[in-house]
Amino acid sequence: MSERTVHLDADPRDWRCRKIRVRPHRWYAAVELDRDGYVDAASSGGRAADLPALFTDAVEKVQAAAVDRLWYDGYPGDFSWSSGSRWVTLPVPYTEVDASVEALRVAELDHDYSGLAALADRLALPVDDWLAPGERELVRGVDFHSSPGVFLRFLRGKARRSGLRLNGRATAGSVWVRPTLPPAQRQLREMFPEQYSGWVDRWSGHVESDDAPYRPWVGGRDQNLSHRAAPVRFRTLQPSVSSDCQCGKSLKEDWDGGREHADHHARWAFGVRVPKNLDWLGDLAVVTTQSPIAWRRLVYKVAKMPQRENHYDFRSWSHLGEPEKTEDNVRAYLLKANGYVIGYLAAHDTDHHRPWDLVDESQFGEADDTLRPRIDLVWVADAYRRQGVGAMLVQALADDFGAPVADVSWSTPISRSGQQLARKLSPDGIWVS
Ligand SMILES: [Zn+2]
Repeated sequence: MSERTVHLDADPRDWRCRKIRVRPHRWYAAVELDRDGYVDAASSGGRAADLPALFTDAVEKVQAAAVDRLWYDGYPGDFSWSSGSRWVTLPVPYTEVDASVEALRVAELDHDYSGLAALADRLALPVDDWLAPGERELVRGVDFHSSPGVFLRFLRGKARRSGLRLNGRATAGSVWVRPTLPPAQRQLREMFPEQYSGWVDRWSGHVESDDAPYRPWVGGRDQNLSHRAAPVRFRTLQPSVSSDCQCGKSLKEDWDGGREHADHHARWAFGVRVPKNLDWLGDLAVVTTQSPIAWRRLVYKVAKMPQRENHYDFRSWSHLGEPEKTEDNVRAYLLKANGYVIGYLAAHDTDHHRPWDLVDESQFGEADDTLRPRIDLVWVADAYRRQGVGAMLVQALADDFGAPVADVSWSTPISRSGQQLARKLSPDGIWVS
């Protein structure tokens, strides 16, 4: 079906003309009454153009029924539309497009909402019957029409919203269900009746009748394995555990079930996977601000690890634009092992240094203006720490510059692990900047 527009007023070229537009989507058509110009014209003329409450009610009923119907048909996504008096949107199955256009037309022009009511009735599903208490087999083609897997997923969603637990299983041509109300959900509804107005507990007192169907073995692990089980006991221990992970993320449960943390944590622990489109010869790559963008993006990705771990405001690499030369030769050393970037050293050259004997709380020495490579940051993936990787990176920086390792300069403040590394490499003292 192609997009089309029906005009409701005499002159279709007039910007104030109300129109109904049909927009095809993959799973449904959006039938939309456009009153935008009409509302503008009315309000500038001092007239009200609000939708009557009866109209809004009828539309909301259609929307609710249509959303359920499209999910029941297998549509996996969500819906969004604007509210208010300018746009009225109905997402409907293609079979109901013409009826929806007509229902919106007579509702808008004649204030006749019977078409919308009839549409809502046709789209409505017997969800209450499906979720009635008791063991039942719902048969495809008799009780429902979508595929059993899709239907069961839909029912689970509806059950969850009602606080029900659905012991359900799809077979080739049917769906077995036994909706029950967990005691905690009943208690919640009894404690906060104002949040669950109109709620009636049909499930708690339900007694299975003698001629209830018997569910044969239809697969699944949870089949009756909790029958006659004893409830789990609870105690309170309140362990004093941290809610911050070493990688820098929070350990508290978050909206995505911890997926983002898990991805980040894996990169922090094992390193950042080397993109397949990079030809990487040897195992150490020196990336400058003039390197191809794929390399600079990789540095940027790696630089996120120390940024999160140490809660820095800024990332130690920001060169993501066109290749450009920097006066101070900004560069990054990336060390690869096992297919991952496991070590990262950010550096640039500078000529403002002071010597430090590495003794805690001792003063820095006289200023020195020799050009030296300066370590901005060293990071090693967690699984590779305490194996000499950091020392190897600092040595590479010194070799690359053509100076002994004691000549490199360390940016202050130096972290605990940075100081340990510095003591190991130059026990007699270091340059700081
Ligand atoms: Zn973590």
